[in-house]
Amino acid sequence: MNHKYWTNAVHKLSSSISIRTQNSPRLLSNSKHVIDARIIKTGFDPNTSRTNFQMESFIKTGQLIKARQLFDEMPNRNIISVNTLISGYVKTGDLVTAKHFFDGMPSRTTVTWTILIGGYAKHGYPLDAFKLYADMYRSMIMLDSVTFATLLSGFNHKIWKNQMIQVHTHVVKLGFSSACTVCNTLLDCYCKCHCLDLAFRLFNEMPERDSVTFNAMITGYANVELNEEAVDLFLTMQKTGFKPSGFTFAAVLNATVGLGNLFLGKQVHGFAVKTNFIWNVFVGNALLDFYSKHGRVEEAEKLFHEMTEVDGVSCNIIISGHAKEGNYEKSLTLFQELQGTNFNRKNFPFSTMLSIAAYMLNLKMGKQIHSQCIVTSASSELQVGNALLDMYARCGRFEEANLVFQSLSHADAVPWTAMISALVQTGYHEKGLDIFIQMCRENVNPDQATFSSILRASASLASLSLGRQVHSLVFTSGFVSNVFCGSALLDMYAKCGSMRDATKAFQEMPDRNIVSWNAMISAYAQNGDGDGTIALFEEMVSTGLRPDPISFLNVLTACSHCGLVDQGTKYFNSITELYHMEPRREHYVTMVDILCRSGRFGQAEKMMAEMPFIPDEIMLSSILNSCRIHKNQELAKEVAEQLFNMKVRDASAYVNMSNIYAAAGQWDKVVVVKKAMRERGLKKPPAYSWVEINHRMHIFSANDKSHPRWEDIEKKIESLSTRMEEEGYKPDTSCALHDLDEDTRAEYLKYHSERLAIAFALISTSEGSPILVMKNLRACSDCHAAIKIISNIVGRQITVRDSSRFHHFKDGYCSCGDYW
Ligand SMILES: [Zn+2]
Ligand SMILES: [Zn+2]
Repeated sequence: MNHKYWTNAVHKLSSSISIRTQNSPRLLSNSKHVIDARIIKTGFDPNTSRTNFQMESFIKTGQLIKARQLFDEMPNRNIISVNTLISGYVKTGDLVTAKHFFDGMPSRTTVTWTILIGGYAKHGYPLDAFKLYADMYRSMIMLDSVTFATLLSGFNHKIWKNQMIQVHTHVVKLGFSSACTVCNTLLDCYCKCHCLDLAFRLFNEMPERDSVTFNAMITGYANVELNEEAVDLFLTMQKTGFKPSGFTFAAVLNATVGLGNLFLGKQVHGFAVKTNFIWNVFVGNALLDFYSKHGRVEEAEKLFHEMTEVDGVSCNIIISGHAKEGNYEKSLTLFQELQGTNFNRKNFPFSTMLSIAAYMLNLKMGKQIHSQCIVTSASSELQVGNALLDMYARCGRFEEANLVFQSLSHADAVPWTAMISALVQTGYHEKGLDIFIQMCRENVNPDQATFSSILRASASLASLSLGRQVHSLVFTSGFVSNVFCGSALLDMYAKCGSMRDATKAFQEMPDRNIVSWNAMISAYAQNGDGDGTIALFEEMVSTGLRPDPISFLNVLTACSHCGLVDQGTKYFNSITELYHMEPRREHYVTMVDILCRSGRFGQAEKMMAEMPFIPDEIMLSSILNSCRIHKNQELAKEVAEQLFNMKVRDASAYVNMSNIYAAAGQWDKVVVVKKAMRERGLKKPPAYSWVEINHRMHIFSANDKSHPRWEDIEKKIESLSTRMEEEGYKPDTSCALHDLDEDTRAEYLKYHSERLAIAFALISTSEGSPILVMKNLRACSDCHAAIKIISNIVGRQITVRDSSRFHHFKDGYCSCGDYW
């Protein structure tokens, strides 16, 4: 924008000789008369004119010194000579010399003023530009649309609101308010500075509008996420027949992404086709972005192949889009194709590719991309550097990660946070904590992302004592009112089993956004409080906040945990019917899960046939789990077959498969599954449970006799077993899949990790106090049944957090109602 106005100003400068006189600026006179007057007044000299022209050429080619020499040697200079020289100094940013010549001029034209105003505006001194403009206004110099445009181009922030309003007043006073171009400039400026109220008032008051007016207003709305307003205005624009620009399309598509409105976006797509804008690469990219953000990569891909012109941006969008949907193979192929093009390599989606390598734990691919990053010097970019670090750390190569870490600047919190978050995400919580402590020692201030990571570590460790320490650090760092830190705090307390602290954190937040509401709703959902989840969701809606896909996912998850089929169906349908959004893959996964858990396999199959996705492994695994609960052997075998052919990476799916075959007595298939698991390099992660007693973590794995108090633990388990049998407990030996006899299997079950942790907690804490035990995997159904009875025998509240949710055991019952 800046540049365009500037060129205009220079253009005006060269043609000004025929339009303006310096002494009667506000008089309109015929041009012939003006030229005559100038010749008499300035002693118009063809030689001067020629030299001015030469000076201008020198300035254009960056030879300011030569231009200055010419100027110094000129026998007769006129006002144009000085204007040209000033514009030369302005161009190089030497505003002091420019001002020096400006001050030395006996008289100045509008152009002179405008050049210098433009200089200040362009080089980031909008206030100086405004002061000069105010002098100009007071000196009764004629203002024109270029002056306004030049001045306004410097305002880029709300802080200049008062100055903009003053300019607006002048525009009205001088009779420019009916000039469309001037008003457009002003409107654009208001929008750019996020003064949308003023922009909209001006928009309404304009006697005449053109396409530029609409485009500016729509872009303005979209930029501050007034999405509905942007879309409405776009529709009005269509009705009134004004032509959109590429920017308008991009803005309105952005707005439809914000609204989550797929239908509307498709309409805009159709309109772009109709108006021939579809060939514009800028519009095409906005559409690609729109489709991939809606999870419609197939449509994006189709468009991508139809586009006559694609650039690096288009490729980036489509590669990242595929990556987001988990089609890594596709991303890889496209990335390889991209390397054969001559697009600027610096813009390649290195960080996306690195995160794919990190996700796939494909170190070889990560290293290849690393070497390309080095060749293109992209590795020096912070984002790429962090992605590299993350990739190595996740692949378990902490040495390489550390090398990358050392090469990044340490003054900033970002690389520290990347290192910490990589460690936390890969389960090295203590190491992450060590780095955090080192970071604090080196006086690097943690930012909200650092705290979020550390809080996540505390949540994963379920270490309430650590979480509380971090809480006080967050408090002293002043981040406690930060909505993201606040939400992470809330989440930490909820995951550490303290709903009371979580609720308190939520209530104390000075402002809450969708993230904080979602965190609180999720806390209720994880705890299996279906009614609480729904009540909170409705409360959020009543405050005027629009639920986002995550809010719906939380509500659906709660419905799935609590077997609320009707409620779940209602909320699932409301996504499209009430909120006009497209349900995402994870919504379908949860909805199918809700139906299957309640045994409505027919309905689930119908939904799967109608949904716009192919069922993925998560969906199939959850169906398999429901088949196990409802003993639906028929479907189970079918699903297991599909899963087996998908070559999934999740070991628990194989475990489920082999369980299904084992229960059906198909031992040959069990062998096949186990062999495939070995061949595909998958291992069932070892199950372990842990419990925090007096600020110390005690970790147990099944049959683990290494704890110093093993004898007491064993004694406790044995005495509990006797009592449990009296209460009618019978071990469910199908949970122990070993080719062993019944008694050995039952014996084995007794020493599952969570039971060791509970037994230890029982002998280490006072009578009647609640117990919180964490488990890295899902609890087996025998342990679930056993803990219910134990809670009754010992009269304690026992909470078990497994990989998917909380189980609150009390008086022989579990809060999950055996739905899990
Ligand atoms: Zn168990
Ligand atoms: Zn339960």
